[in-house]
Amino acid sequence: DEADRSARARAAERAMTRDGVEIEVAANVGSLDDLAPAIEAGADGVGLFRTEFLFLDRDQAPTEDEQEAAYRAAAEALDGRPMLVRTLDAGADKPLPYLGEPAEPNPFLGVRGLRLGLLRPDVLDVQLRALVRVAADHPLRVMFPMVATLDELRAAHAAVDRAVNAIADAGRRVPERLEVGAMIEVPSAALAADRLAPEVDFLSIGTNDLSQYVLAADRGNERVASLADALDPTVLELIRRTADAAGVARIWAGVCGELAGDALAAPLLIGLGVRELSMSAPAIPHVKQAVRETDLDSADALAAEALSLSSAAEVRDLLRTHAV
Ligand code: PEP
Ligand code: MG
Repeated sequence: DEADRSARARAAERAMTRDGVEIEVAANVGSLDDLAPAIEAGADGVGLFRTEFLFLDRDQAPTEDEQEAAYRAAAEALDGRPMLVRTLDAGADKPLPYLGEPAEPNPFLGVRGLRLGLLRPDVLDVQLRALVRVAADHPLRVMFPMVATLDELRAAHAAVDRAVNAIADAGRRVPERLEVGAMIEVPSAALAADRLAPEVDFLSIGTNDLSQYVLAADRGNERVASLADALDPTVLELIRRTADAAGVARIWAGVCGELAGDALAAPLLIGLGVRELSMSAPAIPHVKQAVRETDLDSADALAAEALSLSSAAEVRDLLRTHAV
């Protein structure tokens, strides 16, 4: 329809609220093939580069050179747009048999994401060195998945420092400054956001995992997956807490879970304090349009009302009413 056409026509423009607050609207990508459609859809950059594709369906981990080539090709395709790369988020539903890690009774509560990286510096360090090489030439940011504690975040920073030193020692250029962020997708991380925020450049909320861990409902189990609803007021409370902590630390908080791609939720997330949204490419024009139709006062009021409700269904009704 007409609204659809006009959203598409303006997709490449940056998205500002009515009162002039810029919201970065970025793409989630999971392969090099996803980049052209993301740019075509109007992405301001990549807000979540899932790097698992480099590691799956093979017999051994990709080498530093191989990874560098992939990240460099992606950064070149983005032509100066920022690229936020998430380190390997294996484990849980994405085991890598060649790593030889033992099977676990509860993989979603086991060695996944950053936990695996810290147990296997052989894997994490190779990836970080490849990323540091590319970050010397392109606006590449690094983020760590499944952070649960401040100690883990500090250990991740130490790994970044190791990588930068190794590249410098090899006589190669290193980035002047490498931005590092934490994903907020474990309830303890959201509750500790005020401790994490001063030690990172950004926080990116993974509402898919955050919802499943807050509601204790496996997102892959269809009998309970509907419980893991990111619009549940308890999840919204943790989003607000995270965004507040980011504001105090003068860094930005974004959302890269599926909720970010729901245009109806855009004013709510802005009202909760979120300033970056990353989503699958087709949603970008619509979310940008929803940003343009919002202003901070009404977004704040909407967020306050949503937080006073008792269920995801009530929040969804509120968003529908607000949109018409
Ligand atoms: C999330 O958990 O919300 C997220 C963006 O990461 P993934 O879906 O890859 O777990
Ligand atoms: Mg996740």
